[in-house]
Amino acid sequence: MMATSLNRLQYLPIVTLALSMMIGGYYFHTTVESWTTRIVSGYMSSLLDDVAHQVQDKQLDLYDMPQPEIDTFIDNLSQSRFGQRFTVIHSEGLVLGDSQLSNREIRALGNHSDRPEVISALTGNVGISKRHSDSINQDLLYVAKKLELPPDEHGHDTNYVIRLAMPLTSITGMTKDIELIFFALMASSFAVLICSSWFSNRKIFAVVKYEREQQEQRIEKSTRKIELLHQLANMLAACNSIKEAQVVVADIIPRLLGDINGCVSIMRESRNQLEVKLDWGGDWPASQVYVPNDCWALRKGKFHLSHEKHHNLTCSHMSGHENGTTMCIPLTAHGNTVGMFHLYSNPQTAQVTEETKQLAFTLAEHLGLALANLSLQEKLRSQAMRDPLTGLYNRRFFEETMDAEWSKSNQDNSPLSLLMLDLDHFKRFNDNFGHDAGDYVLKEVANLLTRCIGETQVACRLGGEELAVICPNTNIESSLQLAQLLVDEVRDLHLDMKGLSLGQLGVSIGVCTFPDLNGSTDEIVKAADTALYQAKDDGRSQAIHSQIKREPTKLNANDGPSEVLPLKKSE
Ligand code: GH3
Ligand code: MG
Ligand code: MG
Repeated sequence: MMATSLNRLQYLPIVTLALSMMIGGYYFHTTVESWTTRIVSGYMSSLLDDVAHQVQDKQLDLYDMPQPEIDTFIDNLSQSRFGQRFTVIHSEGLVLGDSQLSNREIRALGNHSDRPEVISALTGNVGISKRHSDSINQDLLYVAKKLELPPDEHGHDTNYVIRLAMPLTSITGMTKDIELIFFALMASSFAVLICSSWFSNRKIFAVVKYEREQQEQRIEKSTRKIELLHQLANMLAACNSIKEAQVVVADIIPRLLGDINGCVSIMRESRNQLEVKLDWGGDWPASQVYVPNDCWALRKGKFHLSHEKHHNLTCSHMSGHENGTTMCIPLTAHGNTVGMFHLYSNPQTAQVTEETKQLAFTLAEHLGLALANLSLQEKLRSQAMRDPLTGLYNRRFFEETMDAEWSKSNQDNSPLSLLMLDLDHFKRFNDNFGHDAGDYVLKEVANLLTRCIGETQVACRLGGEELAVICPNTNIESSLQLAQLLVDEVRDLHLDMKGLSLGQLGVSIGVCTFPDLNGSTDEIVKAADTALYQAKDDGRSQAIHSQIKREPTKLNANDGPSEVLPLKKSE
């Protein structure tokens, strides 16, 4: 119902336009016709004035003038030519002459005193009428004027009406010509208007289309950027280490920044150096390690662009790369500067545009957060895995690593050795020099272990002064060598605290190797423990391997660190 009435309404403007055009056309036509009539009748009136002057100048006595003379006078008038009809009428209605009628026809004419133009002319000097002429059977426009001549000698009434008539068809023709010209002008103006509006429309449409395409491209580009940033944030949040974060940034950031080199340097704990930890777009071309004073952004506490409108100041850490543009942004987390975000664009390959700058700020925010998260994760992980006093791995980590390494060895058929360590007579340090001295000794032994073991080996503190070293890919001989080295190194330790010598320290070590002992992790630990007790029983400060047969030795429970028994190997 609603749709139908809407359908009908859509034709309303067209109907209204057609109606107003019809009414306007009608009024235009009548106006033009009345203008033409007025102009023509004015012209005819002036022609009649000329005739009146001629009659008055020649002092013609129209009333007594013989018919042939009037005809000659009328025929000679220029006004009588070109289809115009000139008539002389006496004030009493008698037609004295007519340019288009013969004498006989004139005589047959009736009295003209009742003709509207004649009445008007006699009463108001000028008379105009449009009507049908029976005598020449034509529609005519009559213009009549009163002509007053001086009285003649016979005392006749010397008032006349001179009349000019023109066929209405010629006025209609003129009207039509004017209308035609007007409509032609209108039509050509419309055509020009339509053409120009069509052209401007086409131009506007082309511009709108271009702008829309550009807009769509911009939207597509920024959507892609947002998606990539989102991906980057998600992936960085899923990273557990800087190494993983490096893989992520090297893959995603070049998709956002193109050929621009970039890196993230991390502030060291000491806060006196920054080290490049992440880079993308190829290896970072400038310094890998630098001091905070080398970076303008770090000094200012806000971003720094090397080449700006008002200066060309490149940071010292970018020395040798002054030609390119460098952008440095401090990375802050929880109010602290945790690192720096750097961009470097080689002038030959890329430019740092305003868009790049904005993107850099967003990236710096994401990376700052990711770094803060990673360092927090690292801290928590370290707290969960490490012993706070010595920094060695704790018992939980020991158990997990033992299980993992045992599985790996089992699978790869590779040897796995375990060293169980117990400091000899450690209690004495506490008793003689206090608990702090005991702690100091523990830390010194932990440092020694870290120094002496290989990269793949894992040193743990299982509790008290009991320590362990997990040695993947290490056979019986190698593990015993390491154990002996540790025994020797501990014995050679110089323990001085606050200028006070704490004396010599000894360590007893029990060693076990898988799969020479083909058992579970618990069994290996137990075997290493047994070997350790054996070492203690055999006089301390020595290493014993559970799978190497040894000759029984004399037990000496009171042996101190200075009375170390040599390592006994089976033959
Ligand atoms: P042994 O040669 O038989 O191993 O003798 P020991 O004295 O080393 O053995 P014991 O197990 O009797 O003593 C271990 C001592 O280590 C007991 C404890 O006071 C001390 N201890 C354990 N943990 C810590 C620690 O974190 N700090 C300090 N200072 N002492 C510790
Ligand atoms: Mg003990
Ligand atoms: Mg002990």
